Amino acid sequence: MSNIPKIVILGAGYGGVLTALRLQKELNYNEADVTLVNKHDYHYFTTHLHMPAAGTDKTENARVSISKLIDEFKIDFVKSTVVQIRTQDKKVILEDGTLSYDYLVIGLGGEPETFGIPGMLEYAMNIRSINSVRLIREHIEYQFARFKREPHRTDYLTFVVGGAGFTGIEFVGELADRLPELCKQNDVDPSLVKLYNIEAAPTALPGFDPELVEYAMQVLTKKGVTFKIGCPIKECTPDGVIVGDNEEIKAATVIWAAGVRGNRLIEEAGIEVMRGRVKVDESLRAPGHENIYVVGDNSLMFNPEGRPYPPTAQIAMQQGVVCAHNLVASIRNQPLKKFEFKNKGTVASLGKGEAIGLAFGKKYKGGVAALLKKAIDIRYLYIIGGIPLVVKKGKFL
Ligand SMILES: Cc1cc2nc3c(=O)[nH]c(=O)nc-3n(C[C@H](O)[C@H](O)[C@H](O)COP(=O)(O)OP(=O)(O)OC[C@H]3O[C@@H](n4cnc5c(N)ncnc54)[C@H](O)[C@@H]3O)c2cc1C
Repeated sequence: MSNIPKIVILGAGYGGVLTALRLQKELNYNEADVTLVNKHDYHYFTTHLHMPAAGTDKTENARVSISKLIDEFKIDFVKSTVVQIRTQDKKVILEDGTLSYDYLVIGLGGEPETFGIPGMLEYAMNIRSINSVRLIREHIEYQFARFKREPHRTDYLTFVVGGAGFTGIEFVGELADRLPELCKQNDVDPSLVKLYNIEAAPTALPGFDPELVEYAMQVLTKKGVTFKIGCPIKECTPDGVIVGDNEEIKAATVIWAAGVRGNRLIEEAGIEVMRGRVKVDESLRAPGHENIYVVGDNSLMFNPEGRPYPPTAQIAMQQGVVCAHNLVASIRNQPLKKFEFKNKGTVASLGKGEAIGLAFGKKYKGGVAALLKKAIDIRYLYIIGGIPLVVKKGKFL
């Protein structure tokens, strides 16, 4: 038996991939055995999924094979699904095997939070993975074909997006661009199509700059989106949604984009959580578990004003870098680094050529913000895969 410490990383999302890539760079030969576990043999860009979901881009542009990102001489990749984390004997149970660890990194990403709304889990779809967006795109296209056979069923042409946060807004922007194209392809009168964006909070994009929110709503309204803001969805049914004062919106398509919670496996492991997310210490470790690091949507961190940071790819990436540093430091018995979030700005796309954003202390809107969004996407591809990956996902060029 070797004495080399074993590091197991669960999840190849933004946090997991950045941790793996940095470990690959920082660890010396034979200093640790690193294993990366992921459900699929590809890494997907969650921040891009609203496009293939609406059908405005190919799913291929939203993913890259893990073998193209990591050096398999330095990191073992295991394609499998984690079914249990056993902290008591430092083991991870996979659907087809078991892994032992000395250090564990949990980066399994979030799960939809439905806030207990009846029917939401059963009848709504979510933008969460390549497989879920394939289903959404096919489902949307199929509604047009169904309508041609049953023209009295206008509910086939009614689309409800629950949540006007970043995911909801970015998705309605894309869908608003795609629907006219689908009408044309299927000889459907565009005036029959309805696209609702429904939000319980008193504003769209809560917490974002009000002037930019207003701009976003104007752009999207012009594209045909009907907003219902301050209007909670009470129930999701097989026929649509019930909102506000028991108003029923009949819709064959409901996409829930309103909430993320942590991963159930963490709660089941007995690690302390708040809505499935682990309130990590300043070095990104789980409370009471010095050898367990948590990154990305699974972690919960607070800003200096005491408010939780929203779960974003940006924070997950920065955590991955610090997590790798701290793993190497632990192995070398060196002091750990404190994680400090450096907000590089936020940009939300509103469909083709339109976006809003706050970056470098300035507000951006329209085409300039859309270019900024592309620059952010390119930067990410460059960080994880260098120039070859930027060139391969050629739509950016
Ligand atoms: C449509 C959309 C748009 C977004 N836009 C932005 C944006 O513009 N900017 C931004 O900063 N953030 C954005 N976000 C949020 C961002 O995508 C997430 O915060 C980020 O993906 C979290 O990264 P992560 O590493 O925690 O997990 P993820 O990226 O979700 O990755 C988790 C990984 O774990 C794997 N996994 C899950 N369960 C298991 C299991 N049991 N066994 C094995 N593997 C498993 C998954 O397959 C996945 O590969 C957006 C999210 C969505 C949905």
